[in-house]
Amino acid sequence: MTVDRAETACERAAVRAASSNLWNWACLLTGALAGGCGGSATASDAGEARSPDASADSHRADAPDSGLHAAIPLVDYLGGPIIASPKVVTVTYGADADPGADPKRAFAEAFDDAITSTPWWDDVRAGYCDNGTPRKCVGRGTSGGHVHLTDSPAAAYDDSPAGGSLRTLLQSYITSGLFPTPDSDTIYVVFFPRTSMITVDGYAVSCQQFGAYHASFEAALPGGGRAVVPYVIVPRCSSNDGDLTASVSHELIESATDPVDPDPAIGGNGYSMTTDTVWPVFGDGSEVADLCIWANESEAYTEGSYAVVRSWSNLAAAGGHDPCVPAPALATRPYFNVAPSAERVSLRVGQATTVDLDAFSDGPMPDWTVAAEDVSPTYAGTANAATFALDRTAVNDGTRLHLTIVMARAAPEAHPMFLMLISTSGTTIHRWPIAVTTPE
Ligand SMILES: [Zn+2]
Repeated sequence: MTVDRAETACERAAVRAASSNLWNWACLLTGALAGGCGGSATASDAGEARSPDASADSHRADAPDSGLHAAIPLVDYLGGPIIASPKVVTVTYGADADPGADPKRAFAEAFDDAITSTPWWDDVRAGYCDNGTPRKCVGRGTSGGHVHLTDSPAAAYDDSPAGGSLRTLLQSYITSGLFPTPDSDTIYVVFFPRTSMITVDGYAVSCQQFGAYHASFEAALPGGGRAVVPYVIVPRCSSNDGDLTASVSHELIESATDPVDPDPAIGGNGYSMTTDTVWPVFGDGSEVADLCIWANESEAYTEGSYAVVRSWSNLAAAGGHDPCVPAPALATRPYFNVAPSAERVSLRVGQATTVDLDAFSDGPMPDWTVAAEDVSPTYAGTANAATFALDRTAVNDGTRLHLTIVMARAAPEAHPMFLMLISTSGTTIHRWPIAVTTPE
C-alpha cells in the first residue's frame, strides 16, 4: 500500500508530530520490497562513499559544472509493470439529479480526462520504462470514462494487501459492470465523500494519516479471468480545488510508474527509491511524487488552471539538474545544491570525521549560502547525537567545503541523527540529507 499524507505542510507536520516513529513508517511503506527496516537494506558502515560518476552526470553544454560531485540519487526500477497508456476512469458518488451528488464531479472528470495529455505529464513521465521486449514506457493517457454511482458509500472501509471491504466494493462494481472492464492500462480514480472514512493497513486513517493513496488488487473480470487493477482512492479531505488536483496528480504519476501493490503474490514493483535509503525518509515515501514533497519550497506547479505536484525525474537527476520536475526555467533559476561524499556516516561515540561537500549548479548564478541543520526531531531521529560544523558558508559551482562531525552519543540505525544540508539563494532552497549513526 502506498498511502500519501495530507497535502498541506501543516497537516504533514501534525502527522509527524503524532507519529512516534517516522523512520519506521517510511520503512514500512517500502519494507516489503527493501527487505525490511534496519536490516541489510539499511546496513552501512563507515559511510558508503558515493563515487563521482562523470558519465551519469554529463551536464548540458550550455550549463557546465565540475561534474565531480556525488550523483543525485535515482529512483530504482524494480522490474514490475508500468502503465504505458493510462486510461483514467473517474468514479464519483451520487445520481445525476441528486443534489447531494459529488459537488466536484464535473471538475474531477475534466481534470482526469485532460491531465495525462499535458506538458506536465510529459515532464513527469519521461524516462520511466519497463524492461520488456518491446520496451514500454509510461506514455500519454486518455479518459477511461466516467462512472456515477447511485448507491450510498458506507461510513467506513478498510483496505490492505490482504483485502478488506474497499476491495470488496471495487470488485462488486467490476462484477456488476458499473465499472468499465479493466485492461492493463486502466486506473480507477475513486472519489469518496467526506462521510466515508477509509483505514489503510489497519492504522492509517483518511484525512489524518493520508490525503490519498494508490494501490492495486487482483480482480475477477465479469467475462472470466483475472487482472491486476490499479486504483487511486481520494477521500475528501479538503474542499479546495488545488488540494484535490495536487492529490490526484501525485497518485496518477505514482500509479503509472509503480502501479502494482508490493504484494509478491501479484507481481513486483515498478519505480521506487530503494538503493538510497536516506532521501525517502524526507520525501514522505520512496515513489516519484513522494520524493518531491520536501525537496523544494517551490513544490507547487500549475498546469493550465490546475495545481499539480512536481515529481522526481531520473532523467533530470542523472543530468545533474533539479530532479523535481517541472523545474523552474534553467536560464532564470539554475538548480544548485551541495553533494556530500557520503550520505550515511557511522561513527563510534567520541570519533570524528570530515565529509567533503561539493557545491554545484547547472547554470551561472551568484554565490549561495550553505547551512547544516540537525532536523532529527522532525523525522524521529536522534537529535544532538553529534556536533558538526561547516568550514565555509558562501559557495558557488565547483566549491568544495567540509563538514566535520564529532559523535557525542549513540544514534541507532533505526533513529539516525539527520543532518540536512540546506542551500539557499534568495527564496529558493535545495537540500541534501545525511544520516549519522553509531555502529551496533
Ligand atoms: Zn505518493
